[in-house]
Amino acid sequence: MTDRDLMLSGSMLHIGGEWRVASGAGRIPVASPASREVFGAVPIGDASDVEAAVAAAEAAGPQWAALDPLDRGRHLRAIAEIVRQRMAELATLESAITGRAIREMRAQMGRIPEWLDYFGGIAAGLEAESNRLRGGFLAYTAYEPHGVCALLTPWNHPILILVKKLAAALAAGNTVVIKPSELAPATPLLFSAWCSEAGLPAGVVNVITGDGTTGALVCAAPAVRHIDLTGGTATGRKVAAAAAERLVPCTLELGGKTPVVIFADTNIEEAAAGAAFAAFVAAGQTCVSASRFIVEDSIHDAFVEAFARRARALRLGDPADPATDMGPVISAGAQARCLAYIDGAMKAGARCVVGGEVPDLPAPFSAGFYVEPTIFAGVEPGMALFRDEVFGPVVSVTAFSDEAEALRLANDSPYALGASVWTRDVARAHRVAGRIRAGMVWVNDHHKNDPRSIWGGFGDSGYGLENGWDALKGYQRKRNVVVSTAPGFDDWFAGGKRYG
Ligand code: NDP
Repeated sequence: MTDRDLMLSGSMLHIGGEWRVASGAGRIPVASPASREVFGAVPIGDASDVEAAVAAAEAAGPQWAALDPLDRGRHLRAIAEIVRQRMAELATLESAITGRAIREMRAQMGRIPEWLDYFGGIAAGLEAESNRLRGGFLAYTAYEPHGVCALLTPWNHPILILVKKLAAALAAGNTVVIKPSELAPATPLLFSAWCSEAGLPAGVVNVITGDGTTGALVCAAPAVRHIDLTGGTATGRKVAAAAAERLVPCTLELGGKTPVVIFADTNIEEAAAGAAFAAFVAAGQTCVSASRFIVEDSIHDAFVEAFARRARALRLGDPADPATDMGPVISAGAQARCLAYIDGAMKAGARCVVGGEVPDLPAPFSAGFYVEPTIFAGVEPGMALFRDEVFGPVVSVTAFSDEAEALRLANDSPYALGASVWTRDVARAHRVAGRIRAGMVWVNDHHKNDPRSIWGGFGDSGYGLENGWDALKGYQRKRNVVVSTAPGFDDWFAGGKRYG
């Protein structure tokens, strides 16, 4: 059987560098959200599967941590090379399983090697410090890995988000147990097999599929010393509680309700193009999807008209067709949630400018979980559509009359993940970027993601950072060694002068 067959066989996990039959008897079907075609299944890992995956990661830990960072970097670059060679295959699989348009997935897979190359490179450049202390002491610091890290990943970018975490974790000298989302669980298994093929030592990467219960078992495993979750805020609270119980650090990349503030000096067509990308790429299913457009009243109507024109022009349909702009949302539940917010916004008195329906598509896509790109105008801050994360292609537009009101509206959310500000006034761009409540602010663009550019939020959007040096350091603990260089011990109880 090929790796691809094993991945979808319904019984195999990838643990300790090899495919292993799962002990858990449960199965999760892997199906297309575009047509409901079933491709196969993955197992639901049980307690003994979790134990095996964590044990494999623990056993591989000391040898991996002892490798010179340059050598770990070589391993990461070997994985990057395999991804480069098989990018087309990976993009096709990711598109089929998530329903995301193939054009998007090709572009996204094309960027995966950047994270492996980047963290493989910077790990060797992490410099510790040394200081001379008063009284004749030398202090020096050292970084070391946490050990076994749990990576709990979502379904919207199964490989991208996994690799963002994995590249930093491995470069820092950790080993990992990955628990992908049950809604897109398959490709991480294949990725792990490719890591082994690239020569990664057995046990450094382990993948255990399953549901939230499997994830909770991974978090509770005593050998897991760090937890990194990308997921919803409710899951974040549970994972943070599990981590607190065992006093292990965690990183939480959670939800958002991203504001986009558009000032009247912005070119309207450019802002509308940016808005369509920000709102409808991935069918609005990214944590930084633009969801609240806050638009200066003098251009409000012209912007809404230009934005709606672009939304209407988006082609929905077969995700495998390069001409498709937008695929379905991930599940029947996600589709029902989008339709409930649409219904609620209409009842609350907002004006549906475009969309609002399930599109009329030919079979087999008539069975898919599609939702039209939907824009509501006249959305008030009290409405659910303004407050809640929809995680789909349903967005709101609200007018403002001055900068203070724009900021008040933008900051009226418990989330603080992404935001964008559109203006040609450089002073205002920086002023507003400085006052908007978000971990990441883009000016005259949206959703720019790069291994060198930190990624994370605060408030209900979680804590901890991905990307950059911060991500690498987050995957390590920093220790301190203090050496006395004095000729003898300063004996306090014999009248010595030291204290502390
Ligand atoms: P979920 O919170 O449902 O799941 C995230 C992961 O956690 C999945 O692997 C899930 O497994 C697992 N999980 C669920 N319950 C537990 C538990 N008790 N203990 C341990 N693991 C658990 O999120 P989604 O997959 O639905 O992803 C969408 C959410 O992710 C959105 O809110 C979005 O905003 C956020 N997100 C944030 C990003 C960021 O960078 N900040 C990026 C992308 C998404 P299972 O699926 O099997 O239940």
